[in-house]
Amino acid sequence: MILIDGKMLAQDIRAEIKGGVEKFKLERGREIGLAVVLVGENPASQVYVRNKIKACEEVGIKSYAEYLPADSAQDEVEKLIKRLADDNDIDGILVQLPLPKHLNAERILKLIPTEKDVDGFSEENTGKLCMGEDCLVACTPNGVMKMLERYGVETKGKRAVVVGRSKIVGKPMAMLLLNADATVTVCHSKTVNLKEECLRADILVAAIGKAKFITADMVKQGATVIDVGMNRDENGKLCGDVDFEAVKDKCAYITPVPGGVGPMTITMLMYNTLQAASRR
Ligand code: NDP
Repeated sequence: MILIDGKMLAQDIRAEIKGGVEKFKLERGREIGLAVVLVGENPASQVYVRNKIKACEEVGIKSYAEYLPADSAQDEVEKLIKRLADDNDIDGILVQLPLPKHLNAERILKLIPTEKDVDGFSEENTGKLCMGEDCLVACTPNGVMKMLERYGVETKGKRAVVVGRSKIVGKPMAMLLLNADATVTVCHSKTVNLKEECLRADILVAAIGKAKFITADMVKQGATVIDVGMNRDENGKLCGDVDFEAVKDKCAYITPVPGGVGPMTITMLMYNTLQAASRR
């Protein structure tokens, strides 16, 4: 079994991005800017935003933290996004989700121009991904693809099973694997015989949000298992969607939680910001 070390890989890729950022600055004579918008004080969101700002510092991207109070009106948030959209110093705009419930998130996200949509959630970027065109790709699934690539896990002609069909992970993940010539099955809560579907997977991606949901009897001997889940177990400890201890010995490759997909996600945000800047 080979452990896919997301932490180490993330460091390597961040070093490469740093080089790319320096080159950009020399060639274009300006900084790369990423705006991170946080509305309210959700503690988990605050941690994510802090980590994103830290990652920016690490690779030399200038971050613009925009904090708005939890009770901000829809038009105040929209005004901020429009200002950032028009600001030439800003190459990427990230709105930390979830937004407070009284806000219409869809309307707010639609104001982010496609070329600054570093989360890759816009209709245009999602559509381009489906068409196999060059675009800004959602960070988590893009990070998974980088892991497979860097560890030499073949996708071509392989059976990939993605459990989860969310807009931010499952669907773009399936599309990326399909674009990489895998034969892809997408499973969800209404899938019948989930275990049998999973057992067919050469590459199994779990993006469910349920602690230790994927058990050893669902994994084929020699499979590659990618665990996107971030959950708390009964003791409050961070754990994935895969029962790691039980599954690991059956795998050719497996990602741990923590230290797997998580560190790659923010790294891919930096990657997308550099991409966005380079294209403008
Ligand atoms: P969502 O809740 O949006 O989607 C979960 C998916 O899992 C849904 O498609 C759902 O099916 C499916 N599902 C739920 N229960 C079952 C079941 N019993 N059998 C089969 N499928 C099931 O979650 P996200 O995609 O946003 O996130 C998934 C996990 O990944 C979470 O733990 C999240 O914290 C983590 N995550 C980690 C990131 C990282 O950087 N490491 C980034 C983003 C997310 P249905 O559509 O039918 O409801």
